[in-house]
Amino acid sequence: MNNFALPKPVSAIIERLNECGYEAYAVGGCVRNFMLGIEPKDYDITTSARPEETKAALCGFRIVDTGIKYGTVTVISDKMPIEVTTYRVDGEYTDNRRPENVTFTTKLAEDLKRRDFTVNAMAYNPAVGIVDIFGGRSDLKVGILRAIGDPDERFGEDGLRILRALRFASCYGLRIEDKTAESVHRNRHLLGNIAGERIAAELNRILCGDCENVIREYYDVISVFLPELAQCYKFDQHTKYHDRDVLEHIIAATAAIEPVLHLRITMMLHDIGKPMYFTMGEDGVGHFKGHAKGSMMIAEKFLKRLKYSNEITEKVMLLIKTHDIPIENRGPLIKRYLNRYGEDMFFDMVKVHIADDMGKSSEFRSRIKTYHDAEDTARRIIAERECFSLKQLAVNGNDIKALGFRGAEIGEKLRYLLDLVIDGKCENNKEALLAGLAEGNL
Ligand code: ATP
Ligand code: MG
Repeated sequence: MNNFALPKPVSAIIERLNECGYEAYAVGGCVRNFMLGIEPKDYDITTSARPEETKAALCGFRIVDTGIKYGTVTVISDKMPIEVTTYRVDGEYTDNRRPENVTFTTKLAEDLKRRDFTVNAMAYNPAVGIVDIFGGRSDLKVGILRAIGDPDERFGEDGLRILRALRFASCYGLRIEDKTAESVHRNRHLLGNIAGERIAAELNRILCGDCENVIREYYDVISVFLPELAQCYKFDQHTKYHDRDVLEHIIAATAAIEPVLHLRITMMLHDIGKPMYFTMGEDGVGHFKGHAKGSMMIAEKFLKRLKYSNEITEKVMLLIKTHDIPIENRGPLIKRYLNRYGEDMFFDMVKVHIADDMGKSSEFRSRIKTYHDAEDTARRIIAERECFSLKQLAVNGNDIKALGFRGAEIGEKLRYLLDLVIDGKCENNKEALLAGLAEGNL
């Protein structure tokens, strides 16, 4: 495919720059995604115009100075932010992360050369077609991710590229080319210099992609910022429930859950405390009593280090904590869980239980049916508005007060009545509940 349907604002910017005598191309991720048939998330334009020239040429467009120092201005058109960056050569890297300075150039080839991978170094405009100096298109065709130039040098310049490699492999099903892969392993320690939130941004995309092989082949890379993962490698569980070591179980369970961030993070971390909590029984059977707590301790530090939001952290912590609690298809139990954890978290808990079982020996996955049944029961309870919370109870605090109860007693009585309703021992109707309470026979 040689003709990409660039969005109007993108072609308008390219056209305007061309009219003013500058070269301009869509570049990087958007060209790659076009070739993959995936809608680009955002568009980058690279141009021979200097930033001031870009701004002058694009008068009339809404322009924000986002990174003039690096040659970038952002054009906001139809609410779409489009980054327009001057052809540049990166200066020296002193911290394995960002160049000290950048130099502008008039040659597209030099700009493409500073990019990380061949598949990310293609440019396109409607007049010229595709510019592909490093064979990105053929790499993409055969599903290969390859660093441009010497991978050791490229990762040495910017350690984040190591994780970007894993991210592109996971998101687009690419295999990292051998030399690049060896270099990823060899240079993994460079991730130690990268800020937590930048690591998290890449990790999130790795986890939400097709991450199974990536975690398996590059667990040592992930272990740079999650050292406990390395302990799971080939950690034999010594139990009939598991035919996989801890790392392989984690990988299978992570791949088995839908690609929603907090669920994928939960599965990556749910058993990570197992090696720490392993004990061998006299019968040669392994036990991991308390491992959920161990995983929570590791998870809490990890999530903080990588600066995850409170929302993600709270969900992940609760899901790890509850990943081993019994879920049965019994109305009262399900209602108590719905009450305690809320509807969304209950359904997430079921998903975690199912994914966890998917990572176990096949003959021990029989509970998955129970989990699905419990899910159906919960849906029915919610749809039929069966009572599982104080706010659904047919009596409230004032009703209890009217019977002469005071202070803490009121809450106690309400909870007591809710228990009765949940257990089906009393109907959720005001007369029955109050009469029973007043007569002391409830
Ligand atoms: P997506 O937008 O889908 O996340 P992308 O490839 O567009 O993927 P961006 O971070 O938007 O990624 O970067 C745009 C382009 O800039 C890349 O395609 C690549 O050519 C170049 N690039 C980005 N980050 C780096 C980096 N750390 N080192 C070298 N080149 C990079
Ligand atoms: Mg992009």
